[in-house]
Amino acid sequence: MARKSNLQPVFPAPGHDHGRCASDAIAHAEALCAKRAERLTPMRRRVLEALLESHAPLGAYELIDRLAARGARPAPITIYRALDFLREQGLVHRIESRNAFVACVHNHESGDPVVFLICEKCGAVGEAGSAAVADTIKSASRAAGFTPTTPVIEIYGVCAHCK
Ligand SMILES: [Zn+2]
Ligand SMILES: [Zn+2]
Ligand SMILES: [Zn+2]
Repeated sequence: MARKSNLQPVFPAPGHDHGRCASDAIAHAEALCAKRAERLTPMRRRVLEALLESHAPLGAYELIDRLAARGARPAPITIYRALDFLREQGLVHRIESRNAFVACVHNHESGDPVVFLICEKCGAVGEAGSAAVADTIKSASRAAGFTPTTPVIEIYGVCAHCK
């Protein structure tokens, strides 16, 4: 499958066609789950759709509030289980410094290192897929006999739209 990350800007411009981002990401999730014989259950899909409402990260309780606005209020454990599944599949990433989750709109291997660029002004989070960074981290880890489980790098700064 072609990598979509080349087409997807790190920080989507304000006013971009976000419906397109969201529907592409859902289609990708469906195809990926079908290929891996995993189930995108209604709850997993609802969590992914709620995260895909924007590119801004959401905390678990913000997610519960979003889902509760449209139906029964899910229990935290239900949300965490759905998030665990989506993270294992590489469809959602956790931003540790924010204790929040963001939908991945890129197409990369689940265990690939991910670089997040986090804007201190508007809170936007960009996922910078970089094969060069990924290769460096992989070889540095291998040389140390180390197996990274959540290779996520978080970099704070100011995005181009806020500069
Ligand atoms: Zn978008
Ligand atoms: Zn990603
Ligand atoms: Zn910004």
